[in-house]
Amino acid sequence: ELVYLNGDWLAHDKAFVSVFDRGYMLGDGIYEVIPVYNGQPFAVEGHMLRFQAGLDAVGIGFDVDDLRPLLRQCLERSSLHGSDAAIYIQVTRGVAPRTHFFPEDVKPSVLLYAYPITLRGFENKLASVMISEDIRWHRCDIKSISLMANVRANNEAHRQSLAENLLSREGYITEGSHTSVFFVKNNTVYTHPEGHHILPGITRRVVIDLCGDLGLKLKEEAVQSDEVRNVDEIFLTGTTVQITAVTSVHLDGNEVFRTQDAGPITKMLQTAFIGKVAAET
Ligand code: PLP
Repeated sequence: ELVYLNGDWLAHDKAFVSVFDRGYMLGDGIYEVIPVYNGQPFAVEGHMLRFQAGLDAVGIGFDVDDLRPLLRQCLERSSLHGSDAAIYIQVTRGVAPRTHFFPEDVKPSVLLYAYPITLRGFENKLASVMISEDIRWHRCDIKSISLMANVRANNEAHRQSLAENLLSREGYITEGSHTSVFFVKNNTVYTHPEGHHILPGITRRVVIDLCGDLGLKLKEEAVQSDEVRNVDEIFLTGTTVQITAVTSVHLDGNEVFRTQDAGPITKMLQTAFIGKVAAET
């Protein structure tokens, strides 16, 4: 499989970056993951806007419009042509002697590739998750490649055969290690408001819009970890999980939430999501 790196399409085992790339050395970069259904990128404008916002927030001078021909090329070149995939894009500040301040006159390093991914069948999956402390920084809205707190949280869940780790900051659930999270209580859908403490998930936004289309009551309000035991439904959203029902939640070693199946509102949103993807790809 070919990857795009700094102007060239290369076999992945021939694509190398400098050890002085600030992405490698400092985690100084921004990334994006775009789902591709039947060879068609989904919600691509939202992903591009978020990517540009992240780069701008950390002062990496790169115009995401330069990626547009690459997105096309990567799907055309890819053996995945016409199938389901994800496109991974990463832009780091570039190669420079290691300093903590931003070096001047560096050229950002650009990596882009497509890889096969299962995007269908999420409506048949049931996730068991845990809750732990959100120890991330205070700019979780920036999709930084520095993911130490996220990978650590996800690994803790994985070690317990759980699908996700929901993060709790000052007693409120923010999001998962790599997903957004929604709760349903008394027919109202809840999700953490945008701001510095969550990533503005593109799938999250699609689901919020679908709630509007379906006439569901939605509040962008955080739910307390202690309240999870009292909700009716929980689901995760994200490019890699679409809309996945949560049927079990563990907190401090106790199972605080358990249902047999995806709830009715979760199922309604899953069906609407499948319809939207079909209409747009
Ligand atoms: N929250 C975090 C921390 C993530 O890493 C991700 C996806 O990578 C999401 C939420 C979901 O965002 P999206 O729907 O744009 O994939």
